[in-house]
Amino acid sequence: TREIRLASRPAGRPAPENFRLAESTLPELAEGQILVRNRYISVDPYMRGRMNDVKSYSAPFALDAALDGGALGEVIASRADGRKVGDAVVHQLGWREFAVLDASATTVARTDLAPASAFLGAMGMTGLTAYAGLLKVAEFKPGDAVFVSGAAGAVGSLVGQIAKAMGASRVIGSAGTPGKVARLLELGFDAAFNYRDAPVRDQLKAAAGGNGIDVYFDNVGGDHLEAALAELNVGGRVAMCGAISQYNATEATPAPRNLMLAIGKQLTLRGFLVGGQRQHSVEFAERMSTWLGDGSVRYDETVVDGLENAPQAFMDLLDGANTGKMLVRL
Ligand code: NDP
Repeated sequence: TREIRLASRPAGRPAPENFRLAESTLPELAEGQILVRNRYISVDPYMRGRMNDVKSYSAPFALDAALDGGALGEVIASRADGRKVGDAVVHQLGWREFAVLDASATTVARTDLAPASAFLGAMGMTGLTAYAGLLKVAEFKPGDAVFVSGAAGAVGSLVGQIAKAMGASRVIGSAGTPGKVARLLELGFDAAFNYRDAPVRDQLKAAAGGNGIDVYFDNVGGDHLEAALAELNVGGRVAMCGAISQYNATEATPAPRNLMLAIGKQLTLRGFLVGGQRQHSVEFAERMSTWLGDGSVRYDETVVDGLENAPQAFMDLLDGANTGKMLVRL
């Protein structure tokens, strides 16, 4: 099978030479295992952190070994009860064409509810991140004004639409291109701005229309978090989901410089990992499939073809080439 390996650890922005396409041999199927032909693999911002050799919530990738991460594939051989040839399964052995793994390490994608690729996006971890981050971590309630950064990305676009579907008074999104800003307005955001046009602080204030914000869903960190802290109302909540503005940083970044505002405004800032929100999976899947079905939530995908292009897709993701979920189709 062909697979992508980490050839060297990136310093700052990843580069093509940090990755290598290699061949490896698949093991025989043991009892309880399945052979999967991957159809889609997910490239995600958190993988950048795993390319550094530092202890974190997710173990670093080993050098010269296949990378891993979310994937959706088709079962082509099975020695496991409950998995049959033709099943679509979600699992963690991405970045490769074929995988042999324990059936218990896979979940069957309910392709009767949504297209297969959605199980790496809106119906999968991405969707659960948006759903649980907004409703459980930030404790969104109807009438709240919500700001989400990285809003045209996979998680962010869902956050804004879920907030609208659940009765937000105002939903504001930020993104990095005029095309993405236009897309957010099409998706039903009340206001959207390009963070490259002018300071986030000024643009957010204008977008909030004098009423402030009650919830900030942070995908970006840095200046965005600083601007949100300034704009949050008393009792406001922040779901700290990601800080992509800092993933390639080689030095600590200064913002937010106004964290002290959290005291006077009695703010709640809560970091979370989607892995800690799995108890909401069933509720999430029911509601998300309803929203997708009635059109109140829509999702975009940016699809790149070919395993050999997966490293470039990952690098492009960090540079903002994607609208919605970035996927590699094999
Ligand atoms: P996205 O689809 O949002 O892709 C990443 C986007 O980040 C790019 O498209 C780009 O869009 C934006 N971006 C890149 N650099 C910057 C920057 N310097 N400032 C502002 N925006 C930037 O990825 P995901 O939806 O998968 O992930 C979104 C965030 O959620 C990430 O921070 C990720 O780490 C986090 N996450 C956290 C999880 C958790 O369990 N806590 C689970 C899943 C994701 P643009 O053109 O707008 O710049």
